[in-house]
Amino acid sequence: MIVCIDGPAGAGKSTVARLLAQELGFEYLDTGAMYRAATLGALRHGVDWNQPEQLAQVVRGLQIHWANQRIYLDGQDVTDQIRSPELTALVHHVADNPQVRQWMVELQRRIGQGRNLVTEGRDQGTVVFPQAEVKFFLTASPEVRAQRRQEQLRQKGVEVPLEQILREQQQRDRRDSTRSVGPLVPAPDAIVINTDHMTVEQVVELLKQHIRSRTAPPSSA
Ligand code: C5P
Repeated sequence: MIVCIDGPAGAGKSTVARLLAQELGFEYLDTGAMYRAATLGALRHGVDWNQPEQLAQVVRGLQIHWANQRIYLDGQDVTDQIRSPELTALVHHVADNPQVRQWMVELQRRIGQGRNLVTEGRDQGTVVFPQAEVKFFLTASPEVRAQRRQEQLRQKGVEVPLEQILREQQQRDRRDSTRSVGPLVPAPDAIVINTDHMTVEQVVELLKQHIRSRTAPPSSA
């Protein structure tokens, strides 16, 4: 069974998806980490960002491997490196490239084959797993998302003004929603949930209720 969780950055997808997978006894896939690892690989190969063909060719030659909630690039664990602001600012070159997306879709489908999976990203319910049994689209207001991001950074000892986070977030949202391939939109059959006033635990509980109601056998009464 495949459960898709899509939505913008800061809507709480990662934490929710990880916890939900754990509670269901499913595997968890972070597709954003795959795009980030591809970006790091391209950077290491000195790719010219203005040469989309070259970029796609390099990315196809990379070994991107996801195991036990860690992401590996050519055999090296890069889970922590891929979160830097410098790398985040470059991911759009990779995420906007249609050939790269096609390759990522293939990799993600292979990972999902025959598995019970909670997968998280932007296009999981729309493009990668359109037949998924349950699809969620998590949202939150821009202010709440920016505050959550600020708090995350603060916990890492980094202080960033809210206005800056909001500005960068808005840019990312615009790019994510307007790309021609795999844009950030809810699937027509996705359950849309605004997480503004909810704790992580409440969101997970709500998703579990939806999953139960979708998968419960019809009552014989
Ligand atoms: O979710 P995360 O912020 O780690 O994703 C990094 C970037 O990868 C996003 O800004 C988005 O542009 C891209 N992405 C994507 N499709 C996905 C997952 C992430 O385009 N399925």
